[in-house]
Amino acid sequence: NGEKYFCSNIGAEVAIVTARLENGEDGIKGLQLFLVPRYRKDGSLNYLIRRIKNKIGTRSVPTGEVGFENAEAIVINEEIPGIYLIMEALNISRVANAIGSVSLAQRAISEAYNFATQREAFGSKIADLPLLKWEFGKRLEELHAASQLAWKSAELLNKVWEEKPPYSENYHYFRFITHMAKYWCAEVAVKHAKWSMEIFGGLGILEEFKVERLLREAIILPIWEGTPHRQILDGWEVMARYNLHERLFDELEAISPNSGSNIMHNKIQNLLRQSKEEQETSAGKIFRQLARTTANALAFKVTETVI
Ligand SMILES: Cc1cc2nc3c(=O)[nH]c(=O)nc-3n(C[C@H](O)[C@H](O)[C@H](O)COP(=O)(O)OP(=O)(O)OC[C@H]3O[C@@H](n4cnc5c(N)ncnc54)[C@H](O)[C@@H]3O)c2cc1C
Repeated sequence: NGEKYFCSNIGAEVAIVTARLENGEDGIKGLQLFLVPRYRKDGSLNYLIRRIKNKIGTRSVPTGEVGFENAEAIVINEEIPGIYLIMEALNISRVANAIGSVSLAQRAISEAYNFATQREAFGSKIADLPLLKWEFGKRLEELHAASQLAWKSAELLNKVWEEKPPYSENYHYFRFITHMAKYWCAEVAVKHAKWSMEIFGGLGILEEFKVERLLREAIILPIWEGTPHRQILDGWEVMARYNLHERLFDELEAISPNSGSNIMHNKIQNLLRQSKEEQETSAGKIFRQLARTTANALAFKVTETVI
């Protein structure tokens, strides 16, 4: 029984729903993960869709507001406290979000390039103008780096997805990189989608051209599956609790000795010695630098291998 304000893909036959068992404990410990079919065993509707949200983007994945009244549900694995399963499901969708983000950014650059090779100004195709040539180069570099970070999170997921609590260090490392990838790749997607509109000039804001839709779709990526603040704070928690930035810096140093990871390392160590409030105040700035440094270093490794 109860309500859900945001339910993605509301036309699905089965939903995964977080809820509290009757007489369950207060707080997160009392939560469980359930499978909720669309229809009851007797064929009647199991929940009521009160309305479909009017959204800026992701319109082809309808989002519903739902009411449950004596809905039939199946607990997914009673052996494991639900909160672990909930977080596992979220972490998997964060990997998907990161991959989706770099895919969108790639599409945005591709649309922009296609346009720029056709549009003429000052006697040449705009793709050949020095400023835009430089910008296309920078955008591709950034996309390449973000893609490496997204794939790193997928690679790590591949190693840990069968784990059950208590989790290994590998699992927490996966979580750490995934917070970073979810956060950074979504930022890159929004930035590239906006820039792609700028390359189209005035045409970029018109509905009949494709790129305004890309920005509308991109804008949701940082928000759902946990906002940037959530990724930053949870990523910070992995560093404070498990010291896994040490493992990351060892890896980055081996891949790319001039990546600037030493400077980052010192900054993080210093901040971890401060009060909780001071840590949270500066976590955003440092986590952003860390994500960029990590993505760039991973891209360096790929470039080296290709050469
Ligand atoms: C289109 C869409 C589909 C969705 N589908 C689903 C779904 O299927 N299932 C589902 O469960 N959820 C779904 N959601 C919900 C989504 O996951 C949440 O909206 C999102 O995680 C943000 O949570 P919130 O809206 O409660 O924001 P709030 O928690 O209200 O946050 C508001 C602001 O405060 C900030 N904030 C909160 N805590 C802190 C802190 N400690 N420090 C600093 N800043 C903080 C947040 O980062 C944010 O900027 C969907 C959302 C959308 C938009």
